[in-house]
Amino acid sequence: MRLSNFIKNFADIILPRFCLHCKSKLTLMENTLCKECFSRINFASKERMQDEFQRKFAEHKIISDFQSLFLFEVTSPIKTVLHELKYEKKFMIGKYIGSLINDYLAEEIFNWKADYIIPVPLHKLKKAQRGYNQSEFIAKEISKLFNVKLKANLIKRVKYTETQTSMNLTERRENMKDAFVLNSKIDLKNKRIIILDDVITTGATIEACGKILKEKGAAEVFALSAALTD
Ligand SMILES: [Zn+2]
Repeated sequence: MRLSNFIKNFADIILPRFCLHCKSKLTLMENTLCKECFSRINFASKERMQDEFQRKFAEHKIISDFQSLFLFEVTSPIKTVLHELKYEKKFMIGKYIGSLINDYLAEEIFNWKADYIIPVPLHKLKKAQRGYNQSEFIAKEISKLFNVKLKANLIKRVKYTETQTSMNLTERRENMKDAFVLNSKIDLKNKRIIILDDVITTGATIEACGKILKEKGAAEVFALSAALTD
């Protein structure tokens, strides 16, 4: 047995790890979710992503490409995982999601040749309330794995928006208008920037971020999310 496995085994006895979703004990090879729960997560297919891009972003030509790894379904274990990151301070999940994005979307992301990655910012009141921005933990991992600079404070959310769950796309776009401003003197000319969100629904939020970056000279803006809602 390799030393690292020995240490993991030993840690398992004194500090067993459990599946975030079903709470069963994880084996040495499992991380965050058990094999069974992981197999229940649906991935967003390439065809689906092309459709989503057309539907959400093609018209305004702000976002150049869009990739999302999972489908965010009500009973899916991925919903539990993202919920725990967002509300329960399980920051290691950012690393987990980042490494999965790397496992499945590396080619697409490398092709973007991005200079910067930014997480969709929270309004400072919301950030104070929650204590952190969950998307920043995913962005941090992507930044490391793809060697893209993390610029977490490049833009700022200046408009406090209520939950948009009951709004349609037009209402959401209207609601997001003027929600973000540039928060830096940095020159964005010719820069290629990834905007990351944990979950994307209509895309109105990420497009509003992208609009600011484009207005300030960014060459290309790409949208990336861990999951995609229906
Ligand atoms: Zn499980």
